[in-house]
Amino acid sequence: MKYFDDTIAAISTPVGQGGIGIVRISGSDSIMIADKIFRSKRTDKLLKAKSFSMLYGHIIDPAEGGVIDEVLVSVMRSPNSYTREDVVEINCHGGMIPLRKTLEKILQQGARLAEPGEFTKRAFLNGRISLTQAEAVLDLIRAKTGESMRIAIEQLKGGLSEKLAEIRNTLLEICALSEAYIDFPEDEIETKTSEHIIGEITAIKKEIAQISRTFQEARFFREGLSVAIVGRTNVGKSSLLNALLKKDRAIVTEFPGTTRDLIDDYININGLPIRIMDTAGIRKPDEVAEKEGIRRSLSAMENADFIIAIFDGSEPLNEYDIELLEKIKDKSAVITINKSDLPVRISPDDFQKSMKQYLHISAVTGEGLEDLKSIIFNSNIKNWKEDREGIVVTNLRHKLALDNTASALERSIDVLSGDQPLELFSIEIRDALDSIGEITGTVTTEDILDKIFNDFCIGK
Ligand code: GDP
Repeated sequence: MKYFDDTIAAISTPVGQGGIGIVRISGSDSIMIADKIFRSKRTDKLLKAKSFSMLYGHIIDPAEGGVIDEVLVSVMRSPNSYTREDVVEINCHGGMIPLRKTLEKILQQGARLAEPGEFTKRAFLNGRISLTQAEAVLDLIRAKTGESMRIAIEQLKGGLSEKLAEIRNTLLEICALSEAYIDFPEDEIETKTSEHIIGEITAIKKEIAQISRTFQEARFFREGLSVAIVGRTNVGKSSLLNALLKKDRAIVTEFPGTTRDLIDDYININGLPIRIMDTAGIRKPDEVAEKEGIRRSLSAMENADFIIAIFDGSEPLNEYDIELLEKIKDKSAVITINKSDLPVRISPDDFQKSMKQYLHISAVTGEGLEDLKSIIFNSNIKNWKEDREGIVVTNLRHKLALDNTASALERSIDVLSGDQPLELFSIEIRDALDSIGEITGTVTTEDILDKIFNDFCIGK
């Protein structure tokens, strides 16, 4: 099989210094090209190398004969490779210069520099993986916690694609059956047959809706849950952030108003990546920077999935605290009364009116932090245990296509039970099939592919 004429190459390891760095080549000329710049002590030729073998030698400049690097070269022959094409991977010493020089020689021998994600795109277009699996590769690279990684690996194994292929086959059969009736209109479709079809479609629709529902929670494992820590100056926002991160990221000071930037970082709560947005205090602006801080704080609150509103328990509430209580009224938030290690000068009555859950914590001693973490986790994750048993959808593109499938199926049931022409029924089923195809990649447009693969790094 040969989908592409040209051979592509790229540095596949991150920029910078490392123990080794890898240049990858894929395409029908890849072994021939690598062979021209490779010399081994013995007279091993890459052209004769067995698939999945590794050869030791040097990369040389074929024009001048000078040695560029000492390398190990692996050869993976089509179709048993990442792209299903002939693939050569050159393990260089990890600095950027040997890697760049090696790549340069490969390009001079006729390979083309790969675009971002082009190796994975070839794996998809050559039929080795489905589109959902290609997207899972990207998720795997970006996984923030062990749980995010587990979900990506499940998807990479192809569970979703397999399920959809099964559904697609059933729908194709239904489609063929209905089109047979269209072609032979003298055979009226029997009530029993159409009832059976409706039953089958209803079951499929239910299954699709169930998979689509997992998105709500699963997406948090993939993208992270964003949490804003808000409160007036000096209540302990930076201290709480540091306590949660268990490392000193934000600057903690005694002076009001010094945390002016939004500092983003992730914490891991039971595998859920939490992106904490520490924000400048809500306080009447008395200088430009503070004003900007407040603007960001309010916008972080607007965009956060969950809010931790902090109050200083060692001082009575002031007007800014009351303003904050008002601002979080209709939001998903928890009230934390910080500095529980100091004498309490705040009354629980102040918070009871707000109808929000509240708890005492100390960013300094760590009291209440475990409870706070479980409140954060449970704020948006309620059904995860049940959902994770089956197939989950973490990708918005997949979820939207699943919902389109379910709507088309719903319409097909209406058409069939409403005694409307079978042609209309068949159109709806085809619509459902197209939406499923968009997920797995049987129906793709350049647009969809560009959008997906442009997100990858070069060399993947
Ligand atoms: P921010 O302005 O809201 O970010 O507040 P900071 O985190 O900078 O804290 C302000 C001051 O309160 C610092 O001196 C902290 O050490 C102190 N602080 C923060 N949390 C606690 C706490 O739980 N107990 C005590 N005793 N002091 C705290």
